[in-house]
Amino acid sequence: MPQHDVLILGAGLAGQRAALAAADAGATVAIMSKVHPVRSHSVAAAGGINAAINVADDWRSHAYDTVKGSDFLGDQDAIEVMCSEAPNEVMHLEHIGVTFHRNETGELDLRAFGGASMKRTAYVADITGQAILHVLYEQLMKYHERVDRYEEWFTTSLLQDEQGTCTGCIARNIRTGALEAFTAKNVILATGGAGQCWKPTTNALICTGDGISMAYRIDAPLMDMEMVQYHPTTLVENGFLITEGARGEGAHLLNSEGERFMEKYAPNKMELASRDVVSRAEQTEINEGRGVGEDGSGIYLDITVVPKKRTLEALREIVNIGKDFAGVDITKEPILIRPGQHYIMGGVKTDVDGATPIPGLYAAGEVACVSVHGGNRLGANSLLDTLIFGRRSGEHAAERAKNMRMPEPATPARLRQDADMIDAILSRPKTGRRVSEIKEELGTEMNKNVAVFRDEAGLQHAHETVRRLKEEAKTAYVDDRGTVFNQDVLGAIELGFMLDCAEATVVAAIERKESRGAQFRTDFPERDDETWLKHIDISRNGEDVPSVTYSPVTITDWQPEERKY
Ligand SMILES: Cc1cc2nc3c(=O)[nH]c(=O)nc-3n(C[C@H](O)[C@H](O)[C@H](O)COP(=O)(O)OP(=O)(O)OC[C@H]3O[C@@H](n4cnc5c(N)ncnc54)[C@H](O)[C@@H]3O)c2cc1C
Repeated sequence: MPQHDVLILGAGLAGQRAALAAADAGATVAIMSKVHPVRSHSVAAAGGINAAINVADDWRSHAYDTVKGSDFLGDQDAIEVMCSEAPNEVMHLEHIGVTFHRNETGELDLRAFGGASMKRTAYVADITGQAILHVLYEQLMKYHERVDRYEEWFTTSLLQDEQGTCTGCIARNIRTGALEAFTAKNVILATGGAGQCWKPTTNALICTGDGISMAYRIDAPLMDMEMVQYHPTTLVENGFLITEGARGEGAHLLNSEGERFMEKYAPNKMELASRDVVSRAEQTEINEGRGVGEDGSGIYLDITVVPKKRTLEALREIVNIGKDFAGVDITKEPILIRPGQHYIMGGVKTDVDGATPIPGLYAAGEVACVSVHGGNRLGANSLLDTLIFGRRSGEHAAERAKNMRMPEPATPARLRQDADMIDAILSRPKTGRRVSEIKEELGTEMNKNVAVFRDEAGLQHAHETVRRLKEEAKTAYVDDRGTVFNQDVLGAIELGFMLDCAEATVVAAIERKESRGAQFRTDFPERDDETWLKHIDISRNGEDVPSVTYSPVTITDWQPEERKY
């Protein structure tokens, strides 16, 4: 039975950075992923990573921009950690081989991103995530004697001892269908976000909130779940992302009257206001009849104003996306976009070392909530979050492992529970609904009622829908009944994870009766610091009912003020 000092679930940027840090600190490490590591969702990250590396910049300016972007819901102690450690982290990446773009004088080039008071985003064309992910994977190879890799293994649940300490996980080998228990002194969740709860989304099909739900099921609290980022520029047809790097390079947003409407909403920052502000502006234009496209549900993103040479050099991936997925040459004509689900600010509650309130359980990356993004994440701060808190959780988990004995292995009865759950899915009669139908309804409902604008009636409707879908999911059937590479059965398990995440999100959104960051309630349009300058924490209550508590927002230097761009 496999035993490790540090077991990392997820091999995106957060997981791989945690693995390298834990191995560097001398721990025996394992990293597990349901897809090959370099196919993790982080590969899609396009625009870049923030760090105050320009000599004229200062990490405190980065921290203030992040606090303001978060609409003052971010914890300022955590934001200070992230921003002060950012320059060294980016330089470390460059030293281990990430080919960041350089300017004519040979320094790392920086591009503009939303909500930032100066150019602060380092980038590799518009494939920054892919470039970093591949370099980290290469580095991991150097540690092959100390780091075991479980590639294409699917974690089904977390293990706990009688004191509630996390002691490992149960996982299914996707290639063979075999189920195994893994024992670990520490588990780091790095399983990414839950974007698949919405449809459309910019997120990969694997972003089904597995880690969030598995942590919630062993009573770890979730935080800031109501804060869901809609990105201002996703393709109307399918939600594909057109990176913010395009606006950073100077692209304009235009309504049906050819007007650069951001003048009305954010006269100082225009298209480079924070994402929540730009998404609301676009949705307002669409709702008030100034949208473009056949049914007026889009907005024009005009990249033709960027010099063609620069577009081909720095935005080449979206040139291809435009051609392949919208039939548009973005160097010659505007492209139709609209706000689309992109990122979740909430997740498993952790401290700045990645530790959750469950002993032995850490979390880092999009699965976690530190909270450095608060009500709204600034573009290019997520890659930074994954790397800083991935590294810190790896270091701390390795340190904790030094002073403890290996936990007792899981009992056969515990392994049997998950085996029975899978057997039950495989033997469901073909009388209920298909997994894919339920997923489709969930995504549509969340996109309708838990999106850019929300109100009580819509959120209540979403909650009723999620509760009903949870019941229907219990009998949803799968077509593939085999053991080898059975993605159908994994889809059924993922659906259960997604429904947990969706319910926690809706319950938190109903609770927060104000407008802050990505949570805009049309029935409570003002930010209310007196009542709501606090985090909403969601835990599981008994069987399957989320319960709400609050925790304070940490303020260090920056008192809340009106947020204007
Ligand atoms: C199109 C796009 C562009 C973006 N561009 C940027 C950008 O320019 N800058 C920026 O800062 N951010 C960007 N982001 C956001 C950023 O990419 C993500 O937030 C970040 O990469 C998440 O990394 P992660 O390591 O937390 O998770 P992921 O990269 O999502 O990795 C999750 C890992 O967990 C594994 N996993 C999940 N569930 C299980 C399970 N049950 N069992 C086993 N393994 C499991 C997966 O296989 C995977 O290895 C972008 C996002 C998108 C969608």
